[in-house]
Amino acid sequence: MPSDTIEIQAAVCREFGRPLSIETLRLDPPAEGEVRLRVLASSICHSDVIYMDGGWGGDLPAVFGHEVAGVVTDVGPAVRPADAGVGDRVLVSLLRSCGRCGQCEAGIPTQCAAEFPIDSAPRLIDGNGEPVRAGLRVGGFAESVVVDASQVVKVPDDVAAEAACLVSCGVMTGFGAAINTARVQVGDSVAVVGCGGVGLNCVQGAALAGALPLVAIDVAGDKLERARAFGATETIDAVAGGMAARALALTEGRGFDVVMTATGSARAIEEALPLLAPDGALVAVGMPPDDERVALAATRLSHYGQSILGCKMGGARLRIDVPKLFRLYRNGRLKLDELISSRRPLGGINVSIELARRSRDLRHVIVFPG
Ligand SMILES: [Zn+2]
Ligand SMILES: [Zn+2]
Repeated sequence: MPSDTIEIQAAVCREFGRPLSIETLRLDPPAEGEVRLRVLASSICHSDVIYMDGGWGGDLPAVFGHEVAGVVTDVGPAVRPADAGVGDRVLVSLLRSCGRCGQCEAGIPTQCAAEFPIDSAPRLIDGNGEPVRAGLRVGGFAESVVVDASQVVKVPDDVAAEAACLVSCGVMTGFGAAINTARVQVGDSVAVVGCGGVGLNCVQGAALAGALPLVAIDVAGDKLERARAFGATETIDAVAGGMAARALALTEGRGFDVVMTATGSARAIEEALPLLAPDGALVAVGMPPDDERVALAATRLSHYGQSILGCKMGGARLRIDVPKLFRLYRNGRLKLDELISSRRPLGGINVSIELARRSRDLRHVIVFPG
């Protein structure tokens, strides 16, 4: 074992749909443009649960977890000090970008086409000497991770790690859907379908942009109540039926300028299309399983001028959006702490995952000794 390889505890997924096993793994040092960091907080995103249940396939064994905050412990020789230095507190995103490919140059780093050495050569090795994948390009259910320097953004000193880690995916995605993708304007009528961890952030993003009315739609009454606390001005209980009629009543008969769907189901997109105003835009935020299809009347696009906008990770440009989100949080404009429903050490991760799988709660955070 090279001198700068370290031993860490990690929660390993060896079989889809089964509890994770806490194992001792070896973690290589960071190569060229990579950084290694000690994890301080790692929250469970619904995408982790879908992956761990086998919904999107992939190779095992793997360590999942992609909403991470930690402290940089080692940097590769090609890492620029402006990006990360030893001792920096950072958040880690699953987004890797080279800054040089066509998509990066076009300002769409979420679609970076570059391949990275770390994509094909895992830095984690198990007790039998077998490689272990870092799921979702992070592998954050572990005491330490190695990622590309483009995946980390510095965290202000006064932002706690457990709040910072939420920004990595769920907050960034929901907020970015409203601000970067839908470009909500003050006074726009906006609806958000599905008010879980991402949907609530669509709501708070649209609220900050001045949406009115801002309507939360969900099947769960408690989620609708919470959405009001995040800025929704009205709610629609999807179980009660008559959703389209309610939408028209709330928008003077027009329908919504923007509808964001934040559930991972294609059916939600189909059910949301009739809520749109002529010229309205539907933003598909939640990621459905690979085999789901959407049926729509084609005249919506060519006759009514409606559009469906795709949205990966809120169209994030990490070095622009993350500092903005921290600024809003530190000035009391963005809620983060209110998104946390439990904290547990790594040893309790299976309890947290079970809660995340079946409950209507928000984010369950795994915390590591500081
Ligand atoms: Zn996520
Ligand atoms: Zn690129």
